[in-house]
Amino acid sequence: MKQFTVKTHARSEMIDITAEIRLILRESSVTNGICYVFVPHTTAAITINENADPDVPRDILMELDKVIPLSDNYRHREGNSAAHIKTSLVGSSEVIFIKSGNLVLGTWQSLFFCEFDGPRTRQVLVELIFNDR
Ligand code: ZN
Repeated sequence: MKQFTVKTHARSEMIDITAEIRLILRESSVTNGICYVFVPHTTAAITINENADPDVPRDILMELDKVIPLSDNYRHREGNSAAHIKTSLVGSSEVIFIKSGNLVLGTWQSLFFCEFDGPRTRQVLVELIFNDR
């Protein structure tokens, strides 16, 4: 398993980590298989979405804030319930096919690390699973 660090700079932020995943794949010997990406945090998540227009991640974050407001008489004493709820909605992992040494992503798709309770220093775990068939 490989691991890398993501430093976030805002309370809510989506950071394109596709290049970091591609680097891990390039440094491996895996040509065909699957890439499993996991975020081991309860207030940060991972998703796949459009990389071309930066307004797309901005709109996603804006709408998540409307659906899950920062304050809403939450009981969790740490004060970051909104971040916990967003993390469960967005999810902690993604699986991407690997074909001929490349990630199989659509033209406009990127992997985004989603910070919901930053700024923090975060970890991303990556496992490449080889399939020789
Ligand atoms: Zn908490």
